[in-house]
Amino acid sequence: MSGPEFRTLDDVVYGRVDDVSPGVRRVIAKNPSKFTYTGTGTYIVGRGDVVVIDPGPVIDSHRDALAAALAGETVRGILITHCHSDHSPLAAWLAAETGAPTFAVGPHLVVDEPEGMFDGEEELSVPDEPAESSDDAASSGDDAEPEVKMEESVDTGFAPDVAVSDGEVALEGPGLTMRAVTTPGHTSNHCCFSFEEERTLFTGDHVMGWSTTVVSPPDGDMRSYIDSLRKVAARDDALLWPTHGPCRDDAPTYVQALVDHRLARTAQIVDLLRASGPHTVPEIVRVLYTAVHPKLHRPAARSVMGHLIELVDDGRVHTVDGGPVRVAAQFAV
Ligand SMILES: [Zn+2]
Repeated sequence: MSGPEFRTLDDVVYGRVDDVSPGVRRVIAKNPSKFTYTGTGTYIVGRGDVVVIDPGPVIDSHRDALAAALAGETVRGILITHCHSDHSPLAAWLAAETGAPTFAVGPHLVVDEPEGMFDGEEELSVPDEPAESSDDAASSGDDAEPEVKMEESVDTGFAPDVAVSDGEVALEGPGLTMRAVTTPGHTSNHCCFSFEEERTLFTGDHVMGWSTTVVSPPDGDMRSYIDSLRKVAARDDALLWPTHGPCRDDAPTYVQALVDHRLARTAQIVDLLRASGPHTVPEIVRVLYTAVHPKLHRPAARSVMGHLIELVDDGRVHTVDGGPVRVAAQFAV
């Protein structure tokens, strides 16, 4: 990890407003989990006239912290990277409070899962697995069920006031130019936002500062995700500000390493199937993710599914029974 200490997350104080650059402040929500790392980082960009990026989960302490941080400021816009429940839900409150419009690519695209697609993934659950089991699940819910499905962590109630498209200036003001950089993959509506005056990019969950991103089909798409990583790697951002994890000041190198990691996973899956015959998704996960804690094997299975969908689509892998891609299918080269 590089960069000044204030950019790291060694010293997280929930609700505190941290000045992380001349034009950027960050408030971290108290929703730490195995998916959110130390919690959701909400960014306030600009001084006086500001935009807020990903207001975060509906947690009273976070809402109060944002209200205090924004006192005396004019919120010009609310930018949403995507609609997982630790990113967008508080936008409704902030928009009502400030009258500021919301900006995003669009609402979360609801894609029907093919029947039985994820049957069998529960065998990767670890005993006494805590409630949060899906990407970005906020840990705020007292009413959380023992197994929260992926779909339940999506904020389907969010729809932006303004739909942004790639390269478009979403908002412009004195010293404050925010441009949309669409990055489908983690979700189909994922969007990063660049703060032109500081040559920095707010990466949402597309690039995280601490871990690889879960790409969960059918909305999550590995091919799009890798393409979107290449898109960010080719940019010339001085800093990346992820929602979860510390700032990165080595953008092209770091993001290219994420691309390489995904390509290596693809190759590992093909090599495994070639070397030892057909395997199911849980079997692939257990072999390839030995270095990863078992509690992360279930989300890892989602990313493996993402790789397999791409491989089957490319004709490099097939299901032994000729059926659709699903967790319990036997995959072969
Ligand atoms: Zn997410």
